[in-house]
Amino acid sequence: MSTPRIGLGTDVHPIEAGRPCWLLCLLFDGSDGCAGHSDGDVAAHALCDALLSAAGMGDIGEVFGTDRPEWRGVSGADMLRHVHSLLSGAGMRVGNAAVQVIGNRPKIGPRRAEAQQVLSALLNAPASVSATTTDGLGLTGRGEGMAAIATALIVTDERSREEPTITDDDQARMGR
Ligand code: MG
Repeated sequence: MSTPRIGLGTDVHPIEAGRPCWLLCLLFDGSDGCAGHSDGDVAAHALCDALLSAAGMGDIGEVFGTDRPEWRGVSGADMLRHVHSLLSGAGMRVGNAAVQVIGNRPKIGPRRAEAQQVLSALLNAPASVSATTTDGLGLTGRGEGMAAIATALIVTDERSREEPTITDDDQARMGR
């Protein structure tokens, strides 16, 4: 049985007035987006870093360095697609991933299900999305920037042939 690997990623970008707001691979109309070499999607970037971290493949700076003009303006979705292809090429798949957006705007709740659907499709694995504010503190609280933190679990791409181990206690919990 393969050993799962966890990884983590964070990202912070400044908000720029009038810039399209790409976040969680979705476009949020009516909100200012983040400045950056790419589309400024802090959530996608944090997820990329979490995946690369879990895979032991370095970090987003190595893969999509700002010294690489071919990645200028790249979308968060395309970055996640590329990272996923790197993992697949190395015989790894995503177990699951989670990302938390930290900021005042845009409001994530109304589009959480949509974001989870898109990210899960990109990663071919369950992706969960949450959001929080910092109660007015710091750069996110002042509306100067957005941040995101992510975790990911990676497993080698071989489906376990072992049967699930269900104990008598588990059976009792399940009531059958
Ligand atoms: Mg970034």
